[in-house]
Amino acid sequence: MNALRRRLHVAARVIGLLLPLLAAAGDFRITPVRPVAELLPIALAATPPVEQGSFRPPDLVELVRLDPSIHLDIRYAGTRNFLGAALYGQARAWLQRPAAEALVRVQRALAADGYGLLVHDAYRPWYVTRIFWDAVPPEQHWFVADPAQGSRHNRGCAVDLSLYRLADGSPVQMPSDYDEASERAHPDYAGGTAAQRERRDLLRHRMEAEGYTVFTAEWWHFDYRDWRAYAIQNVRFEDLDPP
Ligand SMILES: [Zn+2]
Repeated sequence: MNALRRRLHVAARVIGLLLPLLAAAGDFRITPVRPVAELLPIALAATPPVEQGSFRPPDLVELVRLDPSIHLDIRYAGTRNFLGAALYGQARAWLQRPAAEALVRVQRALAADGYGLLVHDAYRPWYVTRIFWDAVPPEQHWFVADPAQGSRHNRGCAVDLSLYRLADGSPVQMPSDYDEASERAHPDYAGGTAAQRERRDLLRHRMEAEGYTVFTAEWWHFDYRDWRAYAIQNVRFEDLDPP
């Protein structure tokens, strides 16, 4: 009996030790092929693809300047992202003006539902897309945009975002974490709780009403309808307008 109790006690301790690790594993991680610090100078020295056609002049607008009630949690400015390394020197978010103005309209509509927008990423300089590609093992390249094509984030017309509660500013739970590479991330995933799915669908509904389209594999990623009108950009956050 004592032996059994001892074994139960040990099992409980092991579970207790494992639980925090399991919770931390909720943040999706990829081990970079080479350290980001080594890939950064290579990416900065590289040249973005030359695109044919005519494009609108870039007009990147900082989201919080248009509407300070939009909240930011810029994961690529810290280490809580799939590479575990900081890619941006500043935690800021820009979009091309029509996309930014549409987002402000989404923010106003969501207020009636008791929510605000929590932005994880918006305009992304091309060299960061290049770092993603070079850092991720080839067998996992499906998870990142091909720098030869550029990403819609590079055009300042894609945004990754979730919701926060207006009442207390707390981020909501969605059916999956941000940047989670699993079926739970699909915008049509039927699992999770009803409340999680409702919030995910509300975000999508409000975004679609303002010209955004959700990505088929990520409930948090939306492209603005004008993305084809803007060329790939490679201006670092540090070289955009000062804070
Ligand atoms: Zn995205």
